[in-house]
Amino acid sequence: MPQRSSDATSSTADVGPSAKVAIQISGLNKWYGKFHVLRDINLTVHEGERIVIAGPSGSGKSTLIRCINRLEQYQSGRIIVDGTELTSDTKNIDKIRSEVGMCFQNFNLFPHLTVLENCTLAPIKVRKVSRKDAEVAAMHFLEKVKIPEQADKYPDQLSGGQQQRVAIARALCMKPRIMLFDEPTSALDPEMIKEVLDTMIELAEEGMTMLCVTHEMGFARKVANRVIFMDEGQIVEQDEPEAFFNNPKSERTKLFLSQVL
Ligand code: ADP
Ligand code: MG
Repeated sequence: MPQRSSDATSSTADVGPSAKVAIQISGLNKWYGKFHVLRDINLTVHEGERIVIAGPSGSGKSTLIRCINRLEQYQSGRIIVDGTELTSDTKNIDKIRSEVGMCFQNFNLFPHLTVLENCTLAPIKVRKVSRKDAEVAAMHFLEKVKIPEQADKYPDQLSGGQQQRVAIARALCMKPRIMLFDEPTSALDPEMIKEVLDTMIELAEEGMTMLCVTHEMGFARKVANRVIFMDEGQIVEQDEPEAFFNNPKSERTKLFLSQVL
């Protein structure tokens, strides 16, 4: 199995077709009742790729990434994560969830647990790590997101930006191979957006495979190796950031970019 490099320069390494496939989505269709929310989605993500998913509100971005760790079910198509096919088998779902970390717009921290407890809960319960080892690992990741001094506080004692960094640290404590972000900065005041994006940039530089739904087009330009544009449940267009922003092909993408840039 290829080692994930901690060399910051690895972010510019080849993550094209020669890299191992991290996520393979084929022929994915999902309906909410009669509403066809995902329409024949095909997407291959290679290890080390940093993909930004953009698109108007309601285009199915959240639904798509929530399908990857089975927070949503779907009616047809296949999703294979790191060689394991997502099926209704709970063993497969648990395996995939243990490899895929997720951060949401509203942080979703456990309000009644301290920052440290938020970070150690899953490693202790799911990974069966000892409390002591889980706490050492949690402090390591809290240092990484630059808030080790907040370890004994409760989420509501922290700023939004700090809470989101705790959420990232908490996800990292499970040693995920892939991180999914769903608009992680959308609920934040402007002055806190940068501290969260900086944390995400650092993760990308370390070679983490990332799928990020975000409206932060500066982040997309800087970090993504591929930008995917979704509209009405479909992937309309995807390209390297340079081509995506400077030379969009479809009229829908052009219209979207004219509104967000
Ligand atoms: P996005 O993240 O791109 O804004 P979503 O994936 O959240 O889009 O939603 C896509 C569409 O599906 C929207 O029209 C939304 O109203 C609808 N939708 C989302 N979740 C549900 C649900 N649980 N039940 C019914 N419709 C939903
Ligand atoms: Mg959404």
